[in-house]
Amino acid sequence: MNKSVRKAIIAGNWKMNKTRPEAKELLEAIKPLVANAEGNVEVIACVPYTNLETAVNTVAGSNVKIGAENVHFEKSGAFTGEISADMLTEIGVEYVVIGHSERRQYFGETDETVNKRTKAALAGGLKPIVCVGELLWERETGITEEVIARQIKLDLYDVSAEDVKKVVIAYEPVWAIGTGKTATADQAEEVCAFIRATLAKLYDDATAQAVTIQYGGSMNAANAAELLSKENVDGGLIGGASLKAADFNTIVQAAING
Ligand code: PEP
Repeated sequence: MNKSVRKAIIAGNWKMNKTRPEAKELLEAIKPLVANAEGNVEVIACVPYTNLETAVNTVAGSNVKIGAENVHFEKSGAFTGEISADMLTEIGVEYVVIGHSERRQYFGETDETVNKRTKAALAGGLKPIVCVGELLWERETGITEEVIARQIKLDLYDVSAEDVKKVVIAYEPVWAIGTGKTATADQAEEVCAFIRATLAKLYDDATAQAVTIQYGGSMNAANAAELLSKENVDGGLIGGASLKAADFNTIVQAAING
C-alpha cells in the first residue's frame, strides 16, 4: 500500500517550555505559515498543561490542533497532580503524547502505565501519540527490534483494531532525542517498517497500513525532507525545532512534499 493513504502528522512536543504569552506568540507565528497544510498534513502542538486553554483559543479557526504531553489513566479521584482525559477534551484538546522517553526515564513510566494511559485516552476521545524507542546500548547490542516489538505489544495490549487506527506511533530512538544525533533516514525507515510489520502481526495488514508512524529524534529543518520521504515515515514528533516557528514550518512543508 502507498503511504499517501495515511494521514501525515507533524507534531511539536514543547516539553516544559513557554509561558502562556510565549505560547500565544509562537502559535500566532505558526498558524499562517502552516495554513497550506490543511487537508494534507495534520499539524499539532503538544504543549504544557498550563498552556492548553490558551493554545486551544489561539488556534481556533485554524488547521493547527492541540495536544497534551501526558494524561492519567483514571477518570477522576485521589491522584494529586494528575490530569484526566475528560479534563483535556473538555477544553478542546485532541491529541496526547504518551510514554515519551523522558517520562519513561525520569518519571517511572512503564509499558504497563503507557498501556493504561493509551486505553484511557482512547476511551476519553483523545488520539494518543504513543512513543517507543530503544536506548543506545540496546541498539549497540543488536536488540532494537526485540525492544520495539515488546513495547508495541505491551503498550497496545487490549487495544482493538478499530481503536489502534486512532493511535499514532512515534518511533523515537532515545539516543537521538535532544542530542542532535539523528537516526539516518534508512535507520528510521527500517524501524518504522518493522513497527508496521509488528502491527500487521498483532492486527492485520489493512489495519497496520492505516496507522500513522512518526519518526522523532533531532528532526530539524535540514534533515526533515529526507526522513519524511521514506515510505513508512508518515510524520514527525519534533522537540527542539518545534519551538521555532520557521523551523517547524520547514518541517511541515517537507511533510506536504514528502
Ligand atoms: C521529542 O521530544 O520527542 C524529540 C524528538 O525531541 P528533539 O526533536 O529535540 O530531539
